[in-house]
Amino acid sequence: MSSKASDFQKALEIGRPPNIVKLFPHSKALLVSGKVIDRSMIGKGKAMAIAANGRNHFVIRGALAAAQRANAAIIVEIAKSEGGKNAYCAVNYWNMARQVDAVCNELGITVPVAVHADHYGIKSQKDLEEAKTEIPTMFDAGITSIAVDASHLPDDQNLLANIAVNPVIPKWAGYETEVGEIKGKEGLSTVEEALFLIQGLNANSIYPDWIALNNGTTHGIEASDAGIQVELTRDIHNALAKYSVSGAQHGTSGNSSERLRRIAQETRTTKANVATALQMITWGVQVNEYGNAFLDENGEFVKVSDQGVSDELWAEMVAYAKSKSLKAGDYKKLNLPFENKLVSMPREIRERMSKGVEEFVYELLTEVFNARDTGSIAIEAILKAGSHDLGPKAERIEDPARWTEAKIKERASGLKGDKGPKGDFDD
Ligand SMILES: [Zn+2]
Repeated sequence: MSSKASDFQKALEIGRPPNIVKLFPHSKALLVSGKVIDRSMIGKGKAMAIAANGRNHFVIRGALAAAQRANAAIIVEIAKSEGGKNAYCAVNYWNMARQVDAVCNELGITVPVAVHADHYGIKSQKDLEEAKTEIPTMFDAGITSIAVDASHLPDDQNLLANIAVNPVIPKWAGYETEVGEIKGKEGLSTVEEALFLIQGLNANSIYPDWIALNNGTTHGIEASDAGIQVELTRDIHNALAKYSVSGAQHGTSGNSSERLRRIAQETRTTKANVATALQMITWGVQVNEYGNAFLDENGEFVKVSDQGVSDELWAEMVAYAKSKSLKAGDYKKLNLPFENKLVSMPREIRERMSKGVEEFVYELLTEVFNARDTGSIAIEAILKAGSHDLGPKAERIEDPARWTEAKIKERASGLKGDKGPKGDFDD
């Protein structure tokens, strides 16, 4: 056996977390904690993993095939709006790991893959109580990483919600926290808000792998060219340096390759979410250089005839959208009603649907995200740790006595941050 093959074999034996071993006892898929993916990007330096939102089965297939070609560690994710209890996708928190594991075995994928629950939204006390029973069901179903998103709550409630759900998140799991949602020019995150959240968590011995900011773009289909603010992101990341938290970038569709390259090069971002562009490509909708669907003079999508779904199915999708008065940005709601129609397309159509994603993601991984060969670095990290659990990156440096619930509330009243308008929490 070559050393590469034996390293993979060893990583398979020790690198899969307990929930994955229990679910897939005979699998040869290297499903790992999100921590492994973050560490591999840090190990390479100035590299970002794609977090591909698996809104349909073909996104999952194409993204995994691209990661294998680039030997890049990868995250496959789904958000609560996409795959929670009131989801608009057939892929969900509870079946995504099964799909990822099966595709990895089928295609012979040997790069490490994390299965991430994105935007696990907590917007109320009721959500918080529900989270304590729902989050364990998700880990039971093979999730290996989670983004707790209580960022729509005031800063003290956001921090307290993260502390309250921490006991139900496995210590080995990847963990992302959010200080703000990506939703446009208003309500941009500040250094003070980000420090408040990360310091308060640190004092409570909680060390997130990633922090997501509202750093200036919108999700999905971009109407303006505002984009992600690289300098703001860099300044916040630098202010958090001693807490060793990486950045997670949401809403990348709608940003130029050049801007995304700068995020990788100039900030501490190691996770970049891509949702809308990948969905559009599986359908065969023309996407521009910003990863946005191209709209014609009538404001309609342009379907490329020899790409994605058949022209007949596309016509059916458009007619359905019209019958429901769905605007361009709401086409994502077609995912659930059409999943079984997508998987029942002839083989050559199905293959081109995932091939389109594969080509797009391969280009991103190798030309924009600098993620090539992070798969090997991830495997080395597992072998070095001798465990599926890479442990925290940081240690406690804040004084718990200064971050009690009462003190958290008192401190938060001094923060000025503006939360801005309500976001659309998908990717
Ligand atoms: Zn997001």
